[in-house]
Amino acid sequence: MGWFSDLIGRMFSYDLGIDLGTANTLVAVQGRGLVISEPSVVAVHRGTSRVVQHGNQLAVGDTAKIMLGKTPDKIQAIRPMKDGVIADFDITEVMLRYFIAKAHGRRFGFTRPRLVVAVPSGITAVEKRAVKNSAMSAGARAVYTIPEPMAAAIGAGLPVGEPVGSMIVDIGGGTCEVAVISIAGVVCADSLRVGGDEMDECVIRYLKNEYNILIGENTAEQVKFQIGSALPLEEPLTMRIRGRDVHSGMPREIEIDSSEISEALRDPVLAIVGVIKGVLERTQPELAADLLERGMCLAGGACLLRGLPQVIARETGLPVRIADDPLTCVARGCAALLDDLDDFRPILDTEGE
Ligand code: ADP
Ligand code: MG
Repeated sequence: MGWFSDLIGRMFSYDLGIDLGTANTLVAVQGRGLVISEPSVVAVHRGTSRVVQHGNQLAVGDTAKIMLGKTPDKIQAIRPMKDGVIADFDITEVMLRYFIAKAHGRRFGFTRPRLVVAVPSGITAVEKRAVKNSAMSAGARAVYTIPEPMAAAIGAGLPVGEPVGSMIVDIGGGTCEVAVISIAGVVCADSLRVGGDEMDECVIRYLKNEYNILIGENTAEQVKFQIGSALPLEEPLTMRIRGRDVHSGMPREIEIDSSEISEALRDPVLAIVGVIKGVLERTQPELAADLLERGMCLAGGACLLRGLPQVIARETGLPVRIADDPLTCVARGCAALLDDLDDFRPILDTEGE
């Protein structure tokens, strides 16, 4: 039966590219493009890996994210990949299974897809194996992992196979990954556990210190979206926000403006600039010369922070551009790999195959 189901699998399955991000998980189906983009959040009964049922849905992804900060004691909304490492293997597996099944629809169970999964480059060998095992047990026929910056570079359309330096900076929720790529390999790279989440935490800390008001992480993210900026804006934006007063414990509303948020975001912005500069300093001269001309490409959701590309350009002196659709680069890069799996084999981690 093995060869038969394998054959059927090859004929009818749609292979999947998965971006297992710290903030969002995206799934692209080979030949069909993006089919899933949901927060990497799972709500479970506290202390178990049993997923909470919400109405007739399992609380994974969008359904679970709105629960963050609003759960009763019995329930826990977990972000299993939060800091760019797998904080919880069981929950990660539950999440992966759910998204794979959702992407593959009813065909799943009959045919078995191949998966290319992008993983944070800081992940350990044990974690990588855990991702592979989870995906295999979720029904995959084969699982390949690829370092996230490589997938992002491919998704951004950079000429990764050429003997020319390409620089990609992927700023996600939990991490900022920087890589210089040439001839299908990562030549120089670094990653930092600072990204959009840290920005949200800075907003929370700032408002607590300056206004004695406590807000949750979803509200902090909204503040960042609406008025967040890496540079003071010429025409400041304002926003009314609600939270709980630290002293009285009562709900309260205040108005804040974008210059305050730029101040709050100073440290994470400087940290991101610092890691980019560090990689540039360590890049071989020939490649550095390429970068001077070709600049760097930004991907990941947090690169959309107002003014961030300008600050990076000013501090490094290099041209900076944002990839088309920066949030989906990694997933699209994974799916593109599936089209030419044989050509890309050297890039993929096929260990254990
Ligand atoms: P990951 O790959 O870690 O899952 P993503 O690339 O999906 O992360 O990016 C998610 C992060 O990007 C979140 O912290 C989110 O708040 C942030 N983000 C998304 N859009 C914007 C925006 N327009 N401005 C600022 N930050 C943004
Ligand atoms: Mg990412």
